[in-house]
Amino acid sequence: MTDVPPRVPSRPLRRGRRSSSSLALVLAVALGAGCVAATSASASAAATTSPTAATAGAVSAGVAAAPAAVPANVAPAATTAGDLEVSPSQLAFAGVDGEGCAAEQSVSIVSWGAAELNWTATTSAPWVQLSAATGLTPAQISATVDCAALPAGVHDATISVKVAGQTFPAQVAVAAVVNPDVPVRVATWRDDHAGAFSVSTDDGRSSGAVELMQSGVRGTFVMNGTTPPARYPQLHADGHELGSHLVSHYCERMGRATLIDEIEDNIDGAVMATGTIHDVISLVWPCGFRDIEYGVIASNYYLSARGYNINELESPTPADFMNLKSFNSPEHEPLPPPT
Ligand SMILES: [Zn+2]
Repeated sequence: MTDVPPRVPSRPLRRGRRSSSSLALVLAVALGAGCVAATSASASAAATTSPTAATAGAVSAGVAAAPAAVPANVAPAATTAGDLEVSPSQLAFAGVDGEGCAAEQSVSIVSWGAAELNWTATTSAPWVQLSAATGLTPAQISATVDCAALPAGVHDATISVKVAGQTFPAQVAVAAVVNPDVPVRVATWRDDHAGAFSVSTDDGRSSGAVELMQSGVRGTFVMNGTTPPARYPQLHADGHELGSHLVSHYCERMGRATLIDEIEDNIDGAVMATGTIHDVISLVWPCGFRDIEYGVIASNYYLSARGYNINELESPTPADFMNLKSFNSPEHEPLPPPT
C-alpha cells in the first residue's frame, strides 16, 4: 500500500464539485446569530410525492432537500487516506450542560480496491464513542457524544480510521457544542432552522408544482437523463429546487465508475435548467436503491440524498444525510402510516 498523507477532500473530483469547510466556521455562524433553538424543538421530515400523482393530496407529503447550514459549496464530503475513504469528514453534536446531546451520527468506511480491508477506528477523546472499533470495509458505524460528561463550551476531537501499517489515518473532525444554560443548536439545517419538511417529485415530472405554488411553498423536482424536461427552467425560476435522480434510473448495483458518470452527467443536465452547479445539491436515489459505498460517493457531490420506502420521520439531526428518511406518497407501497 502506498502510504500518503490524507487529503481533504479525498480525491480530485472530475469537476471539483466539493471542497471541505471548517466546521468551526459553521459553528461560529450558528452561535453568532444568537441561535438558541433547541435541537429537539421540531422534527424534520422528508417525504416523496408520486411522480404520477397530480393531486394536491398526493403532494401533501412531498420531498425535499434542505439540509446543512453549510453553503452548497462547502459540504463535509469524504476524506481519504491510503486505500480508505471515510465520509463525512466532519460531525457536529450539540447539547445543554448536564444533559444529553444530539443523536448518533453515521460514519461510512469504504475501500475501492478488490479486497475488503480490516480497519480500526479510534477517537482522540473519551467523550466520543463509536459503535465499533474494528471491522471490514464497507462498513457504517455510529458515533455518539457524551455531552453530559463535558463542561459548557466548544469541544473538538478526531476520529481516526486506518488499516494496519498505515501511517496517516483518514480523519473525521468532531465538534461538540455544550451550552451552559440555554439550548444551542448546531446548524445542521440551512439558515439555522431546527428542521424541515420537504416535498419531492421524481422522474422529471412536475406533479404537484401548481399545488405547491398555491400553498405558498416550494418543492424539489429531480430528473433523470442528461437533458432537463421542458418545464424545469420555469420550475427553477419559480423558486423550486432542481435535483438529481441519476441518468439511467438504475435501481440496482452498478460499479463505482458507472455511478460517478451517472451522477456527473445528470448534474450537468440539471445545470442546464438552473444555470449554476451550486443550485444542484440533492439526490433522490432511484427506487431508494443505495448502499454504504454509494453514500460515500454521493457525499462528494450532494448535501443530501433522499431515501425511499422508509416511511419514518427523520431526526432533526439526521444520522446519515446520504439516506434521508422519507414518507412515500399514499398510493405507493409500502404505504405510509395513516395520518
Ligand atoms: Zn424515480
